[in-house]
Amino acid sequence: MALFLSQNLSYIWADSDCKFYTSLNLNHYHFESNSILLLLEFIKLMSKKKILYIDLDGVVVDLMLEVERELKADDQNYKGIDELIDNSETVFLNAPPMLHAIEAIEELEKYYDVFILSTAPWGNIHAWSQKRIWVERHLPSLYKKLILTHRKDLLKGDFLIDDRTKNGAAEFSGEHIHIFEPKFPDWDSVLNYLVPKN
Ligand SMILES: [Mg+2]
Repeated sequence: MALFLSQNLSYIWADSDCKFYTSLNLNHYHFESNSILLLLEFIKLMSKKKILYIDLDGVVVDLMLEVERELKADDQNYKGIDELIDNSETVFLNAPPMLHAIEAIEELEKYYDVFILSTAPWGNIHAWSQKRIWVERHLPSLYKKLILTHRKDLLKGDFLIDDRTKNGAAEFSGEHIHIFEPKFPDWDSVLNYLVPKN
């Protein structure tokens, strides 16, 4: 007999021995107890979404596309990419989203507690506010879920999707999903790995 339904809960039912069964986040559990209170504690614990961090530049934001555009239209006489990134007042704001990235994040938010975990150039103070505005503009559901740091290894969490190993990504205590490398060549392969199967 089904007792109640919530966002992550498909069913609870009891067999003739009053053993409970439940389905959470598309996983099925046989709960070996006849205590409804223990079962509810179990559901509370298992319903908690895992924490997933996602890098911005080169993962969600096509920064290099905008860098190339600004270099071509350069009226500041930048000496190259690094100088532009360290000084531009617009490049982080005007860069477009990567192909499929926004849709992929919207899908991942159904199953994970998603945060953006990015690094901004220390010398370019504009980059810090531009990243904040970019997230609000393109990912409004991630309200107050932007973390800017040069030490990604200090964050607690389960997964980090990042295209590089720098700024602590390689030392992250959860699993580093190295996107755009052979194991995860695109967003589809990441979704295939992280989204639970029916
Ligand atoms: Mg990156």
